[in-house]
Amino acid sequence: MPASTTPSDRPPEDRCPGALRAHQAADGLLVRVRLPGGQLSPSQLRVLAGLARDEADGAVELTSRGNLQLRRLADDSSVRRVADRVAGAGLLPTATHERVRNLLASPLSGRDPAGRLDVRPMVRDLDAALRGAADLASLSGRFLFALDDGRHDVSTLGADLCWTGGSGILRLAGTDTGLRAGPDGAVPLLIAAARAFLRLRGDRRDLWRLADLPDGPALVTAALAPSARTAAPDPSPCTSATATAAPPDGTDPAPVVGARRDGVVVAGVRLGRLTTEQAQLLADLADSDEIIVTPWRSLVLDTAGPDIVGRLVTAGLLLDPASPWLGVTACTGRPGCASALADVRRDVTEAVTATGPVRGRLLPVHVVGCERHCGRPAGPAVLAVATGSGYRIEAGGTSRPGTPAAALAARAGRQT
Ligand code: SF4
Repeated sequence: MPASTTPSDRPPEDRCPGALRAHQAADGLLVRVRLPGGQLSPSQLRVLAGLARDEADGAVELTSRGNLQLRRLADDSSVRRVADRVAGAGLLPTATHERVRNLLASPLSGRDPAGRLDVRPMVRDLDAALRGAADLASLSGRFLFALDDGRHDVSTLGADLCWTGGSGILRLAGTDTGLRAGPDGAVPLLIAAARAFLRLRGDRRDLWRLADLPDGPALVTAALAPSARTAAPDPSPCTSATATAAPPDGTDPAPVVGARRDGVVVAGVRLGRLTTEQAQLLADLADSDEIIVTPWRSLVLDTAGPDIVGRLVTAGLLLDPASPWLGVTACTGRPGCASALADVRRDVTEAVTATGPVRGRLLPVHVVGCERHCGRPAGPAVLAVATGSGYRIEAGGTSRPGTPAAALAARAGRQT
């Protein structure tokens, strides 16, 4: 007879929300729609804008994984209506795998020559392979794939499995263990690596991510070799065992906001909350059938015409690279999260509004309502953590009492 399990024996449940499985937040139900590679069409964006207006709180939220979410849904029937319309728009091609389609891709791939190849077809292939593999439905909603086109942007974001074009390196939880594949072999290798992780994890379902598995990168590599082509691990600094692989020249990997000469526009979104009106305007202005949601709370679209920038700025979108809003993020905070000790979005909005234009490359700033640090960016950042009696600022290995305004100053290396 099997031993009975008490609630404390059971592995913690993976509560990552999806389109079919809502999260009960303090301010209502929240659903998340996965967008592999951040890709959606203008008509799909219109559908989500309408749902934000009709069923949610009037905004479509952009996540740090290039997905979209709606919050403050009233009840289960609202969740069902949203799921039906999302499915009808072609954004829910699977019920079994919907929460595991976490797939980042370089957002300017195919539009900008800095990349070594266009990874968009690989996004579609990897998504199809994931959906076609019944066993991979048991990956957690947190497991993350990334396809970097060689510009080293999404390779900085802490994916469990990240393939990089040009070098062909497959990094496992940020580590180069010598696995290599060309563009034709990358998708099969990513699928094989995910399967190897699941086999090694066994029934320890609380091991959600590769980094949770002790010695995970080495074990997965050993499980794949010798069928996978291997090489000596690259000794360059970007192959350190940290969770990221930084651009070789140390530049900020986020696409620069603004209108480019090639008809590509990158529009930033304040605190990742895209209003219904902004979403509809972007959909109306898009000239091609593809809009990309980036993991840096911005959108990429092809558009040309008179006064595009003026219309987007008037709508409240960010097109100026000197905007103090860029690189500033916050968790949900009060009133949406029951654990929050502060209304972090209100506090950071007040601080940014009092800030002038910024110059040069600055660290990201993230403001959180408690010690869980939800949504903390991968890599170096300035954190403002609500404590119940103010905020604590964490920057460069130091910690001190402060305010969100002090966090904004700290990203430029100043103290207030
Ligand atoms: S960091 Fe804390 S307050 Fe913010 S969303 Fe997470 S649990 Fe809630």
